[in-house]
Amino acid sequence: MINTDLLPADKDPMGAAIADYFRHHKADRLRVLSSLFDEDEIPVRELFRTKRQMPLLERTALERATGKILDVGAGSGCHSLALQEAGKEVHAIDISPLSVETMKLRGVRNVTQTNLFNEQFADSYDTILMLMNGSGIIGKLEHLPHFFRRMKLLLRPGGRILMDSSDLRYLFEEEDGSIVIDLAGNYYGEVDFRMQYKDIKGDSFDWLYIDFQTLSLYAAENGFKAELIKEGSHYDYLASLSIQASPQSS
Ligand code: SAH
Repeated sequence: MINTDLLPADKDPMGAAIADYFRHHKADRLRVLSSLFDEDEIPVRELFRTKRQMPLLERTALERATGKILDVGAGSGCHSLALQEAGKEVHAIDISPLSVETMKLRGVRNVTQTNLFNEQFADSYDTILMLMNGSGIIGKLEHLPHFFRRMKLLLRPGGRILMDSSDLRYLFEEEDGSIVIDLAGNYYGEVDFRMQYKDIKGDSFDWLYIDFQTLSLYAAENGFKAELIKEGSHYDYLASLSIQASPQSS
């Protein structure tokens, strides 16, 4: 089942890091643990990137975002602020209480603490933005049908999702270029993460990295059309997903 909850403040390490950085202009290490990768950290400063500091895929998404925009998992509000500055209409949502509070303090005008998958949350948008490996929020491949159903409810006619993701195949590449993937196992882009900031430990959560071909297949099966807008420099890409016009009956 897909998670539809909010985060309580005592299980919100990323939000705590964001709130700290906003207040003190510095933060401790935001640690990221997972069973697939070595322990890593997210530089908290990068969560506050300005438009000029954003990777090209993100800047492209911001430029292509039109009409009423939903910024899903908006974090510190970096994309929402850039969109507001460009005179665009944006609604930021996040499950993190501390991120939502910080976004308000930073001047994001329209912010709601809600889970994308909570059915009480109902509105409609021309563009749904999911950035910084935005597919992650979907969690697992098996949640994609649920995700696309939800998107149909939230998208206006002619609207679309702009999402970035990465193909994790490079983790499984041998020196000779061949790829060793256990086909009997889970899809190779399904990762579990846990974050920690100071003594605040978050619960473990599922995070989906998806290659463009697999995304396109699931999209087509669920009434969406996937388009590759731009590829990044390291197996990452920006995709657009729009509702497939149903064939006209004659
Ligand atoms: N988009 C921001 C933050 C990315 S981190 C950026 O690019 O900097 C992912 C964010 O998504 C976190 O702030 C997390 O709290 C939020 N999130 C995770 N699952 C969510 C869900 N189901 N609904 C809404 N927000 C979610």
